[in-house]
Amino acid sequence: MRHKKLKSGGHLSPGAINMRVMKIQCPECGENAIIKKTARKHRELSDLYCACTDVECGHTFVMNVTFSHTISPSAKNKEKLLKSLVDNIQSDDRQILLDLLQKSA
Ligand SMILES: [Zn+2]
Repeated sequence: MRHKKLKSGGHLSPGAINMRVMKIQCPECGENAIIKKTARKHRELSDLYCACTDVECGHTFVMNVTFSHTISPSAKNKEKLLKSLVDNIQSDDRQILLDLLQKSA
Protein backbone atom coordinates (compact mmCIF):
# COMPACT_ATOMS: atom_id res chain seq x y z
CA MET A 1 0.00 0.00 0.00
CA ARG A 2 2.74 2.43 0.93
CA HIS A 3 4.71 1.58 -2.19
CA LYS A 4 1.68 2.16 -4.42
CA LYS A 5 1.13 5.62 -2.96
CA LEU A 6 4.70 6.62 -3.79
CA LYS A 7 4.29 5.57 -7.42
CA SER A 8 1.11 7.57 -8.13
CA GLY A 9 2.83 10.91 -7.55
CA GLY A 10 -0.34 12.90 -6.99
CA HIS A 11 -3.06 13.90 -9.39
CA LEU A 12 -2.51 16.74 -11.80
CA SER A 13 -5.21 18.36 -13.88
CA PRO A 14 -4.34 19.07 -17.54
CA GLY A 15 -3.98 22.75 -16.60
CA ALA A 16 -1.50 21.95 -13.88
CA ILE A 17 0.62 19.94 -16.33
CA ASN A 18 0.69 22.88 -18.75
CA MET A 19 1.65 25.25 -15.94
CA ARG A 20 4.63 23.08 -15.05
CA VAL A 21 6.09 23.72 -18.50
CA MET A 22 6.07 27.46 -17.86
CA LYS A 23 9.29 28.64 -16.25
CA ILE A 24 9.06 31.28 -13.60
CA GLN A 25 12.18 32.94 -12.28
CA CYS A 26 12.46 34.81 -9.03
CA PRO A 27 12.59 38.54 -9.86
CA GLU A 28 14.90 39.08 -6.87
CA CYS A 29 17.59 36.43 -7.35
CA GLY A 30 16.87 34.81 -10.74
CA GLU A 31 16.54 31.27 -9.36
CA ASN A 32 13.69 29.06 -10.53
CA ALA A 33 10.40 29.60 -8.76
CA ILE A 34 7.44 27.28 -8.49
CA ILE A 35 3.79 28.17 -8.92
CA LYS A 36 2.01 27.42 -5.66
CA LYS A 37 -1.43 28.62 -6.58
CA THR A 38 -3.26 29.96 -9.63
CA ALA A 39 -6.10 32.43 -9.12
CA ARG A 40 -8.12 32.89 -12.28
CA LYS A 41 -9.50 36.42 -12.12
CA HIS A 42 -10.95 36.49 -15.60
CA ARG A 43 -11.07 34.20 -18.64
CA GLU A 44 -7.97 35.97 -19.94
CA LEU A 45 -6.21 36.88 -16.70
CA SER A 46 -4.67 34.79 -13.93
CA ASP A 47 -2.61 35.56 -10.86
CA LEU A 48 0.17 33.08 -10.23
CA TYR A 49 1.34 32.79 -6.63
CA CYS A 50 4.99 31.83 -6.84
CA ALA A 51 7.72 30.85 -4.42
CA CYS A 52 11.46 31.00 -5.07
CA THR A 53 13.12 27.58 -4.77
CA ASP A 54 16.31 29.06 -3.28
CA VAL A 55 15.94 28.57 0.49
CA GLU A 56 18.32 31.43 1.16
CA CYS A 57 16.04 33.76 -0.81
CA GLY A 58 12.57 32.53 0.13
CA HIS A 59 10.84 35.22 -1.93
CA THR A 60 7.13 34.66 -2.53
CA PHE A 61 5.42 36.80 -5.13
CA VAL A 62 2.52 37.12 -7.57
CA MET A 63 2.89 37.09 -11.36
CA ASN A 64 0.12 38.00 -13.83
CA VAL A 65 -0.61 35.91 -16.88
CA THR A 66 -2.74 37.59 -19.53
CA PHE A 67 -4.06 36.37 -22.85
CA SER A 68 -2.37 38.25 -25.67
CA HIS A 69 -3.72 37.30 -29.08
CA THR A 70 -4.96 34.42 -31.20
CA ILE A 71 -2.65 32.76 -33.71
CA SER A 72 -5.06 30.10 -34.91
CA PRO A 73 -8.75 30.48 -34.04
CA SER A 74 -10.62 27.99 -31.91
CA ALA A 75 -12.75 25.53 -33.83
CA LYS A 76 -15.27 25.58 -30.99
CA ASN A 77 -16.84 28.92 -31.86
CA LYS A 78 -17.89 28.67 -35.49
CA GLU A 79 -20.25 31.66 -35.31
CA LYS A 80 -17.49 33.98 -34.08
CA LEU A 81 -15.15 32.68 -36.76
CA LEU A 82 -17.72 33.32 -39.51
CA LYS A 83 -18.49 36.77 -38.13
CA SER A 84 -14.83 37.81 -38.18
CA LEU A 85 -14.63 36.49 -41.73
CA VAL A 86 -17.73 38.44 -42.82
CA ASP A 87 -16.51 41.59 -41.06
CA ASN A 88 -13.37 41.54 -43.18
CA ILE A 89 -15.18 41.28 -46.48
CA GLN A 90 -15.29 44.48 -48.56
CA SER A 91 -18.79 45.80 -49.29
CA ASP A 92 -18.36 45.10 -53.04
CA ASP A 93 -17.50 41.50 -52.32
CA ARG A 94 -20.49 40.96 -50.03
CA GLN A 95 -22.90 40.77 -52.97
CA ILE A 96 -20.61 38.27 -54.71
CA LEU A 97 -20.57 36.17 -51.56
CA LEU A 98 -24.36 36.39 -51.22
CA ASP A 99 -24.78 35.23 -54.83
CA LEU A 100 -22.39 32.34 -54.23
CA LEU A 101 -24.22 31.32 -51.05
CA GLN A 102 -27.59 31.38 -52.83
CA LYS A 103 -26.24 29.29 -55.70
CA SER A 104 -24.81 26.67 -53.35
CA ALA A 105 -28.02 26.43 -51.29
ZN1 LIG B 1 14.77 34.22 -5.10
